[in-house]
Amino acid sequence: MHRASDWVAEYVRDPRRYPVLSRARPGELLGRLPASPPELGEPLHRLLDDFEELVVPGITHWNHPRFFAYFAITGSAPGILAELLCAALNVNAMLWRTSPAATELEEVATSWVREAIGLPPGFFGLITDTASSSTLFALAAARERESGGATRRAGVSPGLRIYLSVEAHSSVEKAAVILGIGGQNCVRIPVDAEFRMRPSALGEAIARDRAAGLRPLAVVGTVGTTSTTSIDPIGELADIAATEGLWLHIDAAYGGAAAIVPQMRWVLDGCDRADSLVVNPHKWLFTPVDCSVLLIRHPDWLRAATSLSPHYLTTAEDGAAVNLMDYGYPLGRRFRALKLWFTLRALGLAGARAAITNHIEWAQELRRRLEANPEWEILAPSPFSTVVFRFRGSDEDNAAIEETINQSGEAFISHTSVEGRYALRVAIGNLRTTFDDVMAVYQLLCAATKKRYQTPRPTVESPSEAALS
Ligand code: PLP
Repeated sequence: MHRASDWVAEYVRDPRRYPVLSRARPGELLGRLPASPPELGEPLHRLLDDFEELVVPGITHWNHPRFFAYFAITGSAPGILAELLCAALNVNAMLWRTSPAATELEEVATSWVREAIGLPPGFFGLITDTASSSTLFALAAARERESGGATRRAGVSPGLRIYLSVEAHSSVEKAAVILGIGGQNCVRIPVDAEFRMRPSALGEAIARDRAAGLRPLAVVGTVGTTSTTSIDPIGELADIAATEGLWLHIDAAYGGAAAIVPQMRWVLDGCDRADSLVVNPHKWLFTPVDCSVLLIRHPDWLRAATSLSPHYLTTAEDGAAVNLMDYGYPLGRRFRALKLWFTLRALGLAGARAAITNHIEWAQELRRRLEANPEWEILAPSPFSTVVFRFRGSDEDNAAIEETINQSGEAFISHTSVEGRYALRVAIGNLRTTFDDVMAVYQLLCAATKKRYQTPRPTVESPSEAALS
């Protein structure tokens, strides 16, 4: 244990010594490990040797300050400590009595998150493993409410419809598939020029469905879409949901964290009217994976959808205390609240706000540099800490630039598709990232284009006046 904690301390002190993206080849680790488990136990030091020699080379370092792919995250020191203590306690927080502190700390930590992002009281907070589970639970509650509690007994009846933008995350559709609503009943609403759901198109889609005898169930708005980090007009979606009697779920898995900064609070405008909202502290609130917070106004509908208590799980406290197993499908649950509580306390809101403010400012500076350089084209607004752009060349050029950077081990960026075109994404979100790291990725981008084009390219467009101003 001492050796492991020394390793961890060294690792988090300087993750830069590793290439960000693992250099492992497919099957490499598989080929080096025995196919069967050992008959006799092995000493822990041999396991740690193998961890260092075999496993670490196969790790892509999400903790590296130059991890800019997908949404960057942080295994912060307080979060790591809490995970260690959790593993030692080995708590299953299914019932209040199976660890009262785990249940009550979850209430405290989720309430802190709610308050920090500026949402009013009146939401019940729950920690799940991922935003995918949080959204699944929210839509299960919505489905139960729509049927007046009949679904859990009779199963789902056909014709339910969920409305989400074409930019919304696939986890919503996955939830619809798992809940028996059906992927084809996820109605993808078109977006405006800034990739935000068009409320008029939402209203029309609902009217069309009602006329066809279908049963509109829920609207899912997104604050910080995965591809371009766009923000749906939640206030207008809330108006439509209220008029139509639909459940409003907000996916703020990434973008919700920004609302802890007073100047960014507007990103959650209208979300106080949501029936449920998910924000992932394991994305941009510096808490180690896995930690997603679901805030739900109607926990009784979630309970109605998912609780089932056999006699052996009844306790003397039933009715007087919350049993978290009643809220969601899993019975057993990890004590995730400890790492969220530790992280919020160790950073303080001021510390978390400063980090998020820096990330946003550095992203804006990167964006300005790309905008000022005629070789690059910005493809979407950057309301948060993510910049979406493209080299003014072919899709293949952009894929090659991305691969050059990622194979260098110096930084890791990712891609998306914006209006059918290959786009590069730099997402800033790690606590250890510095301004210099962000500037380094700009230099790497420029160097990668030079490497691909040793000679000047005749096709590069000259900058417009607007681009240079
Ligand atoms: N929602 C959004 C907007 C996301 O960007 C993501 C993942 O990046 C998810 C949901 C799914 O998150 P999770 O991996 O926690 O299920």
